[in-house]
Amino acid sequence: MDARELPVEGWRKVVHFSDEASGLNAIVSVHDATLGPGCGGCRVRDYESFEAGLEDVKNLSRGMTYKNALAEIPFGGGKAVIFADPKRDKTSEMMRAFGRAIHSLDGLYYTAEDSGVTERDIELIREETPYAAGLVEKGVGGNPSPFTARGVWRGMQAAAKARLGAASLEGLRVSILGVGAVGMELARLVHEEGGRLVVADVNEAALAEARETYGAEVVAPEDAVAADVDIYSPCALGGSINDRTIDRIKAKIVAGAANNQLKTPDMDEALRARGVLYAPDYVINAAGVISVGLEILGTWSEEEMTTRIDKIGGRLTGIFERAAAEDRPTGAVADEMALEIIARGKKAA
Ligand code: NAD
Repeated sequence: MDARELPVEGWRKVVHFSDEASGLNAIVSVHDATLGPGCGGCRVRDYESFEAGLEDVKNLSRGMTYKNALAEIPFGGGKAVIFADPKRDKTSEMMRAFGRAIHSLDGLYYTAEDSGVTERDIELIREETPYAAGLVEKGVGGNPSPFTARGVWRGMQAAAKARLGAASLEGLRVSILGVGAVGMELARLVHEEGGRLVVADVNEAALAEARETYGAEVVAPEDAVAADVDIYSPCALGGSINDRTIDRIKAKIVAGAANNQLKTPDMDEALRARGVLYAPDYVINAAGVISVGLEILGTWSEEEMTTRIDKIGGRLTGIFERAAAEDRPTGAVADEMALEIIARGKKAA
């Protein structure tokens, strides 16, 4: 196994691992380890170039620094990428070699699932190192989607209070783009609280379920963002708030589970300028990282998860209040608050 440290200014440690025998070609990036070891998933992807993979892993690991800090788990930001087509090139030996690679970092980085990585892969990694989380059969963590939905629901309530002065979601209209694992559970929670639903998806069976079970109105996917509702909740793919959609948004709140909801960073300010309150995606959808964090700490329980997830609402309220007081966009304020938590961590160390 060849391990070559790549000098990246501002990052704690970035290492390129290559192993001829197994075909492993991977980069582990730890952006910041002030609050604890870098923690974040591993992505297996057939990147078009080494530089593209390096750029991705750097950005993703920095994002995890902010996400973990605001999730209030004692972990820094880390992420890994393996250069391979997950269907064509990935082998058991490659995943074991990846386990050995992260083991050589002596606990500076904990890995977990991301796109292209399965539970079985995590088991293979765990044959080589304890620095991996997300083992469903162990009874911890399991499927995080219901927890993620609960976090988004709590965040939605906080946003409704801050922007609309609403004590609950009762009577509010919510448009959910993507009624999959998270979106459907969210639909249930909103429906039970008396909210009225508009849904969009490419999956006809999911649409039928939302319509029949929760009385949802169905619209085309491209119209979900522009629906005449109080809250828009992106729960499918990222990037639905962009140059083309921003002026079509009628909702007063954006609060959903999708990662990278804003196609470009300037959308943060664009939403604020239009009076739309944005619940920063990485704060509201943090249940998955909370689950991984508790699993590593050995304190995972359903009760502890629920307690921690219910705090997401309060955390968002803090972000909304500061953003309002300073007349600044919520995404920028969230980033700043994450950096302050890390700075306090530095002082305490
Ligand atoms: P999922 O695959 O179960 O659901 C996604 C839904 O979106 C599916 O029903 C799919 O048919 C629909 N969809 C896909 N492309 C679409 C399109 N172009 N137009 C309309 N609908 C489309 O995924 P999920 O686990 O529910 O996650 C939803 C989002 O939340 C993803 O962006 C995911 O990265 C993010 N997220 C999920 C979790 C989690 O715990 N599952 C945690 C954090 C973030």
